[in-house]
Amino acid sequence: MTWPPLREELRGIEPYGAPQLDVPVALNVNENPYPPSAAVVADIAAAVTDAAATLNRYPDREFTELRKGLAEYLNADGGRGIGPDQVWAANGSNEVMLHLLQAFGGPGRTAVSFAPTYSMYPEYARDAMTAWVAGRRHEDFAFDLEHAHEVIDEHRPSVVLLPSPNNPTGTALPHDVIGTLCTMLSGHGGEDGLVVIDEAYAEFRREGTPSALELLGDHRNLVVTRTMSKAFALAGARLGYLAAAPEICDALRVVRLPYHLSAVTQATASAALRHADELLANVAELRAERDRTVAWLRERGFEVADSDANFCLFGRFDDRHAVWEGLLHRGVLIRETGPDGWLRVSIGTAEEMAAFRAALLEVAS
Ligand code: PMP
Repeated sequence: MTWPPLREELRGIEPYGAPQLDVPVALNVNENPYPPSAAVVADIAAAVTDAAATLNRYPDREFTELRKGLAEYLNADGGRGIGPDQVWAANGSNEVMLHLLQAFGGPGRTAVSFAPTYSMYPEYARDAMTAWVAGRRHEDFAFDLEHAHEVIDEHRPSVVLLPSPNNPTGTALPHDVIGTLCTMLSGHGGEDGLVVIDEAYAEFRREGTPSALELLGDHRNLVVTRTMSKAFALAGARLGYLAAAPEICDALRVVRLPYHLSAVTQATASAALRHADELLANVAELRAERDRTVAWLRERGFEVADSDANFCLFGRFDDRHAVWEGLLHRGVLIRETGPDGWLRVSIGTAEEMAAFRAALLEVAS
């Protein structure tokens, strides 16, 4: 007899998650290394105090104030006239994407992405009983539109999930690719498929790289997801969101659990949004540090994927695990992920990156 009586496809599966180790330099989960300033902490604390006084009641199910704040922020970063009814939010963009698959995937339907990519995608599909198909990318991790066309024609997906910038490679998607995918997915098999562009790292994009938000008005089947975990340095608060057609946001209300965004979460996120300028000021520094890291690695003969994100994928190593372990022994935790031979390092403060460089020179030169 099997115990516990788990669904068959879940048996033997390890829960997702990078090691949470107590190390001096943690560069493994693409967090923002800058904690909120004293002023931001004070404002969040005041907002949470107010919320605490009403915790006997359920929170605003429609997170009205937060939606307004998120719409306003998106319109300042590539969005064009996005209204609060075009915004959806949940506990991290992980939950936002699970909602999307619960509503638009499901038994008999297929979700597609192109590897290497974010390793949670197949898990959302599995948890929403959706078939999963992973196509591939070019050797340099650029998007292969011709191959994508074949995969989409063959599998007729209900949802295509694509991060831009991609995790773990840092590769951004050009606008024309996003537009072409939306057209490819519209009306196929009599029904539109959704193109979900996961912009978890969008604020770190390089000069000249556009946001998919700019295309929302042109394609009703385009969904753009964002998170406050990265650029906003709010990973601990768990707030992800998306922008899409109002009908899509409305449909997501069917699958969300009642009152899924706590009053504390809503108060925290709204307070942080009021400090967007300050929280995002560190993004410029992280982008510069990213570009310095890429240049330094290339000067030392490493291969590095072009990155529009707050991390970079570098290699190649015959034994990447040995390099990962060597760095860990020196107090620097990075991520063993992506294709074999490559490692991913998140961009930290200048001091943290100096520690990373020193450790890498000892381990891999
Ligand atoms: N999308 C991508 C591409 C990510 O890398 C991550 C986090 N690692 C997420 C979504 C989820 O982030 P969160 O749930 O914290 O918003």
